[in-house]
Amino acid sequence: MKRQVRVVHIVVVGGGLAACTFIEELGADVSCTVLRKGGEEHGNSWLAQGGVAAPLHPDDSLDQHWYDTMACGAWKNDGGRVWQLLEAGVRLVEKREALFDRNADGRLALGREGAHRLPRIVHAGGDQTGRRLMRHASASLLHHGRLFSHAEAEDLYIEDGRCQGVVFRWQGRRWRIHADAVVLATGGIGSLFPCTSNASGSTGDGTAMAARAGAVLQDMEYIQFHPTVWYNVNGAVQLVSEAVRGAGGVLRRGDGTPLMADVPGGDLAGRDITARAVDQESQAGRPVFLDVSTVPALASSFPFLHTEMTRRRSNSWIPVAAGAHFHMGGIAAELDGRTSIPGLYAIGETACTGVHGANRLASNSLLEALVTGTKCAATVKKACASGRSGVVPLPLPSEHAMPDLGLLRRQIHEGLGVVRSNDRLDRLLEQLDAYPDGMQQTTALPAANMITTAREAARAARQNEVSLGAHWKEKSDEPTLTAGTVDPVFE
Ligand SMILES: Cc1cc2nc3c(=O)[nH]c(=O)nc-3n(C[C@H](O)[C@H](O)[C@H](O)COP(=O)(O)OP(=O)(O)OC[C@H]3O[C@@H](n4cnc5c(N)ncnc54)[C@H](O)[C@@H]3O)c2cc1C
Repeated sequence: MKRQVRVVHIVVVGGGLAACTFIEELGADVSCTVLRKGGEEHGNSWLAQGGVAAPLHPDDSLDQHWYDTMACGAWKNDGGRVWQLLEAGVRLVEKREALFDRNADGRLALGREGAHRLPRIVHAGGDQTGRRLMRHASASLLHHGRLFSHAEAEDLYIEDGRCQGVVFRWQGRRWRIHADAVVLATGGIGSLFPCTSNASGSTGDGTAMAARAGAVLQDMEYIQFHPTVWYNVNGAVQLVSEAVRGAGGVLRRGDGTPLMADVPGGDLAGRDITARAVDQESQAGRPVFLDVSTVPALASSFPFLHTEMTRRRSNSWIPVAAGAHFHMGGIAAELDGRTSIPGLYAIGETACTGVHGANRLASNSLLEALVTGTKCAATVKKACASGRSGVVPLPLPSEHAMPDLGLLRRQIHEGLGVVRSNDRLDRLLEQLDAYPDGMQQTTALPAANMITTAREAARAARQNEVSLGAHWKEKSDEPTLTAGTVDPVFE
């Protein structure tokens, strides 16, 4: 029996910066329901340390930021959209300028990160930019949205070729919620891998749901690995921001020699190049360390890192590994979130608008969350007429044993790690095909999403023979490191 519980028009899946910005811009006059898998801290936005990139330095310009974004993306980016992103982004940063740290002279403090030619990273509370932005943005979520925390979206509800709602789980029950528009803001896919900087829920759920609904995906093989994920025998501890190398941190081998000495750009080379250098050492069983003894005023510049080092009694040589960090690919979308399915929008990291190309420029993704969230709200407000609403209870999911997620992650790492080969990708695709179908309707939903997203990424990687940016295939007769995309900035 159908039971109408409440009137709903727009459903947002996710509670990170993209979702919160969307709701803030939507305003209180549009009815909206938010489903988020955890609480406020559950997502990558909360973890973002470095900051937001914007060309605010007197010597900087949109042109130069555009050039650095394109060069880092190996010129695979959609140049027109990059320009739109940066133009809109700088206005949104200026609008929030009160949140960001200032120098003693009162001007905005601008940091520098890898592959940026100029200091252009605004930050808040030192390395606490993400949580400060989230605290600011989530106020709108509490005021304007009906919020279901610990609610897990399972699948999109498609009828007559249009996305008309979401199936989700909440408090042990399963529901279908109807809507005029559904906005996916489910973040990244780092948690498909054993070593990652990402929040644990970053399992590519939005991408998996969109794939099952037949939406067009794009650039799925481009997964950025961060070179400095603090990693010990118990797994990933936390990301050590690139800004630490920007401030003087040095990557060293166990014998103290600087790892990046002979690489163009040195410690501030593009992320793909640095990640491959670190991974090459790790694969050979040789540890890599980030030496932070050379960073002045570590405690005040990087309080988050300093606190963790003190808590763990770490010395100034932090053991690091390359960990899955950011997904350039995802659900093909316009900058305002429109996808190939009417009524379905995708914003933030789960969307692929083409702005990052083959490799994201550091600190361009919080910008992307702000811009896509803002633009999507404007479009949805115009496009959305009042229509179906309501919540319908559904039968409970059937029981299914959860596959060994540790094993699944190791399989994905083998096939889709920093350096790929067709043999390893074929093996991964076979391994993924061996898992049973239809697990998304069971209690093994998280594994189903991981498998679907990994399969889409592995297929795309298998088909793409061109090593570019973060997608890198080994060739037995070529050294992988020196053949990397060289950032023209440092040539
Ligand atoms: C450690 C770290 C540091 C970073 N530092 C920076 C930085 O300094 N500058 C920068 O620009 N970028 C940085 N990034 C990247 C940036 O943080 C992310 O790209 C950005 O925050 C993504 O925002 P989002 O709103 O799209 O996703 P998220 O903030 O990840 O939010 C995703 C939301 O979706 C929810 N969700 C997921 N699946 C479901 C489901 N099935 N049902 C319901 N809800 C679901 C989650 O619970 C979460 O609320 C960093 C990333 C990490 C991991």
